[in-house]
Amino acid sequence: MNNITLAPVQTDQPSHLMPVFGRQPISFVRGRGAYLYTEDGTEYLDALTGIAVCGLGHSHPAVTEAIAEQAATLIHTSNLFEVPWQTAAAQKLAEVAGMEEVFFSNSGAESNEGAIKIARKFGHLQGVANPKIIVAAHSFHGRTLATLSATGNKKVQDGFAPLVEGFIRVPFGDIEAIEEAAINHPDIVAILVEPIQGEGGVNTAPQGFSYLEEIRQICNQHNWLMMLDEVQTGNGRTGKYFAYQHTSIIPDVITTAKGLGNGFPIGAVMTQGRGVGVLTAGNHGSTYSGTALGSRVVYTVIDTIQKENLVENAATMGAYIVDQFKQQLADQNVIIRGFGLMIGIELPKACGELVNVARDEHHLILNVTAGSVIRLLPTLNITKEQADELISRIVSLVKNFLA
Ligand SMILES: *Cc1c(COP(=O)(O)O)cnc(C)c1O
Repeated sequence: MNNITLAPVQTDQPSHLMPVFGRQPISFVRGRGAYLYTEDGTEYLDALTGIAVCGLGHSHPAVTEAIAEQAATLIHTSNLFEVPWQTAAAQKLAEVAGMEEVFFSNSGAESNEGAIKIARKFGHLQGVANPKIIVAAHSFHGRTLATLSATGNKKVQDGFAPLVEGFIRVPFGDIEAIEEAAINHPDIVAILVEPIQGEGGVNTAPQGFSYLEEIRQICNQHNWLMMLDEVQTGNGRTGKYFAYQHTSIIPDVITTAKGLGNGFPIGAVMTQGRGVGVLTAGNHGSTYSGTALGSRVVYTVIDTIQKENLVENAATMGAYIVDQFKQQLADQNVIIRGFGLMIGIELPKACGELVNVARDEHHLILNVTAGSVIRLLPTLNITKEQADELISRIVSLVKNFLA
């Protein structure tokens, strides 16, 4: 074996990386389960998991074995041929998602691009020349041109005009605004929302999941596609396989990514109902769509989530953690929101600095979103002991900060 090792980083040399990320002054060289390790072996509890990606934890042996074995067998052939692992992964994913058709992409944004194309083609098939899609305020759908245009955050859009047209924005949770849009815009063909806004602060709509049920009704009434962005909420994160499964409805289109590959870059756009059959030969594609390697990872991730009952664990551990926060932070001015292991603690003031305090003083990796919301996205297989560790570190972090 030709072992190439990484030379020590030369901090006196200029970096060649485009400076698009605000990076923390730390790097990890190893991960195991719920923990990350720096070069000198210092251990950090990871309540971010690569932003809701590594749900099975770091270096899960089933994923490692799938990658190593498939890499040594066959990585990629292109979609000019049948890819047996892709067929198998699609079957497994369709089953847990309640969907019929699956197209594999390589990221969340790309999955949403697929959904936007499905909506537009769906409109054109019905003779709508300028099909429009309703999207929500404070949403996040990605960084490509169409998905940043769909995103409800000016900071993501600034500097990239002209934006992609065809989106109508409504306040998240506002059914009347949707009904009004329906009257004013006869060319609406779809609604795209997140069941729980992740970047927007770990929020359902004010009326909770019944918002999704109301959207389903409106979509049925107007023959629109109901499309859910489950890039962050999918794959067991919220205590159901997909967050829409907290309701009694089913969307026509679901997009997912993040937890689907446990760190291997892969996503999917899926259809059922009136979303089926819209995209046909030649309409869509991607060189890397469902490689043998990526597909085997997806198959393995879903199989592991099922065998290790991780959706159930996310539900029970998430409920336990939220319950403990509600008890132990009862005297604090905070709002706690939790859906399985997607947990937000809203503080009464901006708290971005807590990312550094948590890391340096509590050896805890977390994220702050929407300015004042601590966002926790721990591993789906978190144990009771690790949950207790997380709870005690967060409780003292919050109490110190608000003291
Ligand atoms: C992260 C995210 C995306 C974008 O996914 P990428 O893989 O970064 O392109 C889209 N939608 C939601 C809800 C997300 O959380």
